[in-house]
Amino acid sequence: MRPVSSSAPFITSRTLLNPVETMSDTFRDVTRELKARKKEERWKRYEDWKKSCCCPECPSYNDCASRGRELLYCVLGMSNVCIREDRHCICPKCALYPELGLSGKDFCMKGSEAAVRYERSLE
Ligand code: SF4
Ligand code: SF4
Repeated sequence: MRPVSSSAPFITSRTLLNPVETMSDTFRDVTRELKARKKEERWKRYEDWKKSCCCPECPSYNDCASRGRELLYCVLGMSNVCIREDRHCICPKCALYPELGLSGKDFCMKGSEAAVRYERSLE
């Protein structure tokens, strides 16, 4: 086996870009603040945010999603089985959109804001 050159850069997991660390806006701040909380507190926050989610008013939202009480896709991730037909997205009109510093849309079909940003970083 060839010895490793002493001039080779030493790459650690901390050297690699963390997707959350690449965010530089309100969403990053909200994510960091949430990350510092206990999971029980996070769940409570999610329940509070769900009250402001306007997905049920969206043309893409359907009975399946309603029965499953699916909401807050921007944070919790995509609809597992219910929403597969894109009939428009009203996320940008949601009160949480600026509050959470969101930049994507169609979260029920594409995944959470964090997932969307991560995928963008791979382009
Ligand atoms: S931005 Fe979209 S997914 Fe997120 S809470 Fe508002 S309506 Fe729901
Ligand atoms: S995430 Fe967007 S497209 Fe999906 S149901 Fe909510 S508002 Fe509609």
